[in-house]
Amino acid sequence: MFVEVAFPIPLHQTFHYLAPNGTGAAVAVGQRVVAPFGRSKSVGYVVRLTERSPVKAMKPLVKILDPVPLIGLDGVELARWLADRYGCTWGEALACVLPRNLRPTREGGLTPLRRPRVCGDPGLDSRFRGNDVAMYSGSDPKPTLSTQQEAICREIIEAASRREAAVFLLHGVTDSGKTEIYFRLFTQVLSQGRQAIFLVPEIALTPQFIERTHLRFGTEVVGVWHSHLSAGDRSRTWARVAHGAIQLMVGARSAVFAPFPALGAIVVDEEHEPTYKQEEKPRYHAREAAIERTRRAGAVTILGSATPSVESYWKAQTGAYRLLELPSRVDELAFPAVHIVDRRAEGPVSRQPVFSPPLRQALEDRLAHGGQVILFINRRGFAPFVVCRGCGWSARCPSCGVTLVWHLDTKAPAGEEGVLRCHWCPHRQELPEACPQCRNPKLRLRGIGTQRVERELRAQFPTATVARLDRDAAKSRKVYRQVYEDVKSGRCQVLIGTQMVSKGLDFPRVTLVGVIDADTALYLPDFRAAERTFQLVTQVAGRAGRSPRGGEVIVQTAAPDHYALVAAARHDYRTFYDQEIELRRTLGYPPFRRLVNVLVRGARESPVTEETERLAQGLKGALEQSGRDPAGWAVLGPVPAAHARIRKEHRWQVVLKADDNAVTHALAYLRTVRPSSDVKIAIDVDPQDLL
Ligand code: ADP
Ligand code: ZN
Ligand code: ZN
Repeated sequence: MFVEVAFPIPLHQTFHYLAPNGTGAAVAVGQRVVAPFGRSKSVGYVVRLTERSPVKAMKPLVKILDPVPLIGLDGVELARWLADRYGCTWGEALACVLPRNLRPTREGGLTPLRRPRVCGDPGLDSRFRGNDVAMYSGSDPKPTLSTQQEAICREIIEAASRREAAVFLLHGVTDSGKTEIYFRLFTQVLSQGRQAIFLVPEIALTPQFIERTHLRFGTEVVGVWHSHLSAGDRSRTWARVAHGAIQLMVGARSAVFAPFPALGAIVVDEEHEPTYKQEEKPRYHAREAAIERTRRAGAVTILGSATPSVESYWKAQTGAYRLLELPSRVDELAFPAVHIVDRRAEGPVSRQPVFSPPLRQALEDRLAHGGQVILFINRRGFAPFVVCRGCGWSARCPSCGVTLVWHLDTKAPAGEEGVLRCHWCPHRQELPEACPQCRNPKLRLRGIGTQRVERELRAQFPTATVARLDRDAAKSRKVYRQVYEDVKSGRCQVLIGTQMVSKGLDFPRVTLVGVIDADTALYLPDFRAAERTFQLVTQVAGRAGRSPRGGEVIVQTAAPDHYALVAAARHDYRTFYDQEIELRRTLGYPPFRRLVNVLVRGARESPVTEETERLAQGLKGALEQSGRDPAGWAVLGPVPAAHARIRKEHRWQVVLKADDNAVTHALAYLRTVRPSSDVKIAIDVDPQDLL
């Protein structure tokens, strides 16, 4: 018997070994093993046991690390699929399906897996115990389903009972009762002795959300998975999944790989969220991995969203997914009125106040009448640009070339109150006294960030109580929780924040939502800019719709006629989708073509441009030779990346737009590429953006 081993390295090859000498331990697929590799030893994964091997002088394995494999046979095969689809190696994909601390790089760097404590351990991150439990205010663990919910549940549960690998797209506005449907499905699956995975974006994993699942299913069977877990919690949770102690895994992206023995369902809530795509190798999309996994397991997938991704909705339109719609809210509250404020009417952008007259008026009104307000701005810091009035110079990062953001620094002495920071690397510097180019002392702070909104609000409404939530303010879950409690209790009247305030927060007293600048995402040079803007505005607007007192949303923009904003203001997904899908069709963007973004980076520019040129030619050549219809693919570039220099490295890219078959050919070619030693190549299949 020979053992085939894949190593987590960028080498598209597996290696054969003999079973270890005289240990008597059984080798099994999915185990981590130590094997001789080159002149030393390395940790790899058993991917196959075979009777025959072409290799002559074979060495024995040194050691078997896991008596019980940490990855099942299905996990090993899913990893193969990940590798093929996303252009990484089998070993790299295998490392990805394991929790971070169980990924081997070298011998000795491993966290041993302890046996699970099956009884007594509620599997709950200790930080979520105590106060958080009391924070959940829901009281009706099991409402009677509406007729619509009933019909949808029946359809999904029938598919689950038949062990059909069906994919459902559940398009339902916020508060339409989607989660209740997920819960009914989980109950059904668990009662059949199978298990389920509930994927949510990291940001939605709030204590009150976790508590809701705990209340319904009991803390014993629910596992929680997010990026703040300690190594110990990760190992314990993983082992409890593999041993069947946990039956429902609630978690962010990588929970999709939870090693359940008999998976019955995966729910991907907020399926449109970009955070489901991993931005490091392997660059997989958890939604696609979920669909592939359930397809192999004979399980159902539900993709849920109030604003489905254009790709998923198209697949539902064309029959690949089954479309289910929940158009109204459970409580039948009306949607909030959305007003678009045209900022062009207020003169030059640089002179505009943070609050337009209608927003200021609404703020005054709400604060006078005890209402709460959420103000959304998708940029942290005080001002995203510092420019010279004399010559147009702007402050840029010496390593990245991007503009520096001016941040207030509350700890600095008065007068010297801020610092310029790069959002791409750790660079910081003081604001120069005068323009380094023309010595003009008149440097101007331009644009709006969360801190500036906060300062402006405190200046104009000195008695208002204000809190801010962004990556700078909420460094820990503790701060996040404090702000949450302050808003919940009414101690805080105005909450200012980035995406962090756009979901997972449910405050019935919020009667006004202000979108300070809807255009920040609109003009990015990216094919998903309109989609993202539509999703964000819809999502943020939803924060105002939870009060019987009614809610109002004010959206400030310089593009009041843009179809994404007009449709968002009308709560009209379908009109947005119909326009967007035609654009995608015309331009040959997903879902009509797939994209592969090949990024080359390196310290010196000429090797980078040369390699990119070689790649572009190589890709064209491979596709021409493959005999694929040239109408089915296009190689764009080489061009400098949108961020052409990050952390002192030059970045160039080639983008392939192609159908499925051509993508497969392209990936086969890319596997053969051996880049020169002064550059690195990153392949992103189905990228979220081209920035
Ligand atoms: P969504 O996931 O679409 O935002 P939820 O399932 O969370 O919606 O439902 C919103 C609120 O309505 C929750 O408090 C939930 O318990 C409640 N709810 C859901 N379905 C019903 C129902 N059929 N009758 C009464 N309340 C319901
Ligand atoms: Zn100047
Ligand atoms: Zn930088």
